[in-house]
Amino acid sequence: MKKQAALAAALAAVMVTAAGCGGNNGGGNAGGDSGGSGGDQPKIGVAIYKFDDTFMTGVRNAMTAAAEGKAKLDIVDSQNAQPTQNEKVDLFISKKYKALAINAVDRTAAGVIIDKAQAADIPVVFLNREPVAEDMNKWDKVYYVGAKAEESGTLSGQIIADYWKANPEADKNKDGVLQYVMLQGEPGHQDAELRTKYSIQAIEDAGIKVEKLEQDTAMWDRVKGQDKMQAWLAARGDNIEAVLANNDDMALGAIEALKAAGYFTGDKFMPVVGVDATAPAIQALQDGTLLGTVLNDAKNQGGATVALAAALAKGETPTKENTGYDITDGKYVWIAYKKILKDNIADAQQ
Ligand code: BGC
Ligand code: CA
Repeated sequence: MKKQAALAAALAAVMVTAAGCGGNNGGGNAGGDSGGSGGDQPKIGVAIYKFDDTFMTGVRNAMTAAAEGKAKLDIVDSQNAQPTQNEKVDLFISKKYKALAINAVDRTAAGVIIDKAQAADIPVVFLNREPVAEDMNKWDKVYYVGAKAEESGTLSGQIIADYWKANPEADKNKDGVLQYVMLQGEPGHQDAELRTKYSIQAIEDAGIKVEKLEQDTAMWDRVKGQDKMQAWLAARGDNIEAVLANNDDMALGAIEALKAAGYFTGDKFMPVVGVDATAPAIQALQDGTLLGTVLNDAKNQGGATVALAAALAKGETPTKENTGYDITDGKYVWIAYKKILKDNIADAQQ
């Protein structure tokens, strides 16, 4: 801020000189602070795909905390509807916000948002729902903050593989094959597609044969996860040897259904893995119901999004120096995942 103010003063001085004296008539400062205070924080429009999402609520809170003293965030709920989100974006643009942070409802709709933003010359940082490369390359003021979906898949698969190897009794029917069920996130979401694929690949890479008994979407949702698991237990009973879920909310739903079917009492156990390391998932790890999860770092994803958007809002190009985060290929910030088990819960405490 101080630097910027000094720069503005220097610029004004040059303009005055160029105008040949006569006061502060250098054409105004349309792009800069509008009040006289000089300390105005840039306004950033933030559209979250829906507020009613456990993980995104964590990211949202992290953004609010990171913005303190740096930028003014106008955070809105797109209510899981792309047309609603597009209207919110139009509103941000009409308010002349200095940058946008968009958690797209439908990541394939990013192109439309980029076109609107570019026309108004307002930089955009997407988060959590990764636009396709073609859209990312549309304009140089487009960024993405997220985590590598395949990495979380690999880590969650490794948790199951390690458990299987350490616990021979996990092969309940003794056929040497791991019979599993898979609860998927929203179709089309990179995290749903890639976590599903890479978790199973990691198990196979560990030399374990697998058999998929059931796989379906529960839309990242705890209640839907519980309903699916209940139906699968009714159909498959004790043939299920492991439960993989693309996120913790669905894993926790599955655990509810498993509890109702008598699991987690006596020696009746089911290995269940999720992704996110949300607070209730950590509690389940402590309780011994959830076998493991993968930290999806909400704090740094929110922090990086605000850091990039704030730099862009000031007309700067985001760099490691002005954001604190490594920028890959000039437009991506990748936040690392981490395996979380009962013995390293502290690593997930944000
Ligand atoms: C998280 C999910 C969340 C989704 C929202 C994923 O990265 O793991 O819990 O529902 O993002 O887009
Ligand atoms: Ca088996």
